[in-house]
Amino acid sequence: MKNLLVLLLVIPFLGFTQQNSVSDNLFSNYKTYKESTLTQRRFKHNEIQPLIEKLKSEKDFQVTFLGNSIEGRSISMISIGSGKTNVLLWSQMHGDESTATMAIFDIFNYLKTNKEILKNIKLHFIPMLNPDGAEKFTRRNAIGIDINRDAVRLQSPESKILKYARDSLKADFGFNLHDQSKYYNAERTEKPATISYLAPAYNYEKSINTTRSNAMKIIVVMNDIIQKYAPGQVGRYSDEFEPRAFGDNIQKWGTSTILIESGGYKNDPEKQFIRKLNYVSILAAIHSISTGSFANTSIKKYEKIPRNDRKLFDLIITNLTFPYLGNSYTVDLGIKNLERENNTHSDFYNIGRVNDIGDLSTYYGYQTLDATELSFKVGETYPKILSDFEELKKLNIKDLLVQGYTSVSVDSLPDEIKFINYPINIIDARKIIIPKNNSIPKPPISFSKNPTFLLTKNNKVVYAIINGFIYDLIKNENGVKNALVN
Ligand SMILES: [Zn+2]
Repeated sequence: MKNLLVLLLVIPFLGFTQQNSVSDNLFSNYKTYKESTLTQRRFKHNEIQPLIEKLKSEKDFQVTFLGNSIEGRSISMISIGSGKTNVLLWSQMHGDESTATMAIFDIFNYLKTNKEILKNIKLHFIPMLNPDGAEKFTRRNAIGIDINRDAVRLQSPESKILKYARDSLKADFGFNLHDQSKYYNAERTEKPATISYLAPAYNYEKSINTTRSNAMKIIVVMNDIIQKYAPGQVGRYSDEFEPRAFGDNIQKWGTSTILIESGGYKNDPEKQFIRKLNYVSILAAIHSISTGSFANTSIKKYEKIPRNDRKLFDLIITNLTFPYLGNSYTVDLGIKNLERENNTHSDFYNIGRVNDIGDLSTYYGYQTLDATELSFKVGETYPKILSDFEELKKLNIKDLLVQGYTSVSVDSLPDEIKFINYPINIIDARKIIIPKNNSIPKPPISFSKNPTFLLTKNNKVVYAIINGFIYDLIKNENGVKNALVN
């Protein structure tokens, strides 16, 4: 009896340590399997087709054409394995949520040479369910429908394809792979929700049946793994029932459904580390389904994952005092770097915005600067008008910032240039507007405006804030990704 008790206590622990070594190996050998042709978030249907084409000749891989998107782009399902348990994984139902698509192609590379994980299962992947949205790097499909609100009405071909795949396989498990805003954090912590999970509800009562509790158990397995590589950076997505969404309905139709949302991670703008976390945790989850070890976990651990909150900025500047119309105001600034895309949706530059101003003591930043001991200083425009960019290259920008300049005017600017990879803003000399004498001056900093100013200590400029980025002039650390051309 006593021995049996010891055994009962040890079995779940063995499951856990086994899971641990599986994920450690996946993490340390990742480079071997990373798909090298995908390097950043913005890629299109025609970039993944050659990869899918090559899989057709790969042993044990089966590629099935499922149908076309509204604009006629093919949507394929890649199946691997011959076990009894069917696992369906689909990504990029929202066209601008591509992190897991990259991870899926890494997983294919892994499965080419590692078949033991497939012993009891058959995997089915639909990468990039919304190729028309991906083309423009936008959430919705070509007629503006959010596919994730079309699970019941099924008007979009992309939605019909997913429903058909789920029903024809009668999938036991489903992985619904998305991205969420990088401004989500784990509730009441400064940690970004790098990964968020949800076992979607299948009714308003949020009941828990076996289908849903199995999804919760898989999430517990994955959460344990992510906690090792990004401690505290996991959130639990709201489980309000959404009767039109795919996750909620697929759960209702009897497939244990796991929503994975890839959020933000510091200094990972192209989400390559988050892609790796997807790869490790999804493969480890597949392993736990294959061995059945997930069944040993408790759904109580699922409830303990902190909720998602949305309290992050890229940069918070706290206790900043600035003068305006004879008074001074002490505020916190919440700054976001918004992405502005080029015409082909293949690249972007940043526009800084004051996204909130005031008491932001309940918020957090990927970066924080305390301005308590610093003084606000308006940046000036360098008095000499430069004839072109060549002349700009000859200037020492850091010296200009130290002297109190945050912009230079240039005479002959090509129209199409919107940003510059220098830490100083550019003004088109032809567009300079002279303010009217009797109008009330604008505040030097305010809501929704571009944050560009200087911070001084003992009358010396120590920080330049350029387009929402920090240039630390004492440490000589230039964090300005780009400045603006106005
Ligand atoms: Zn999404």
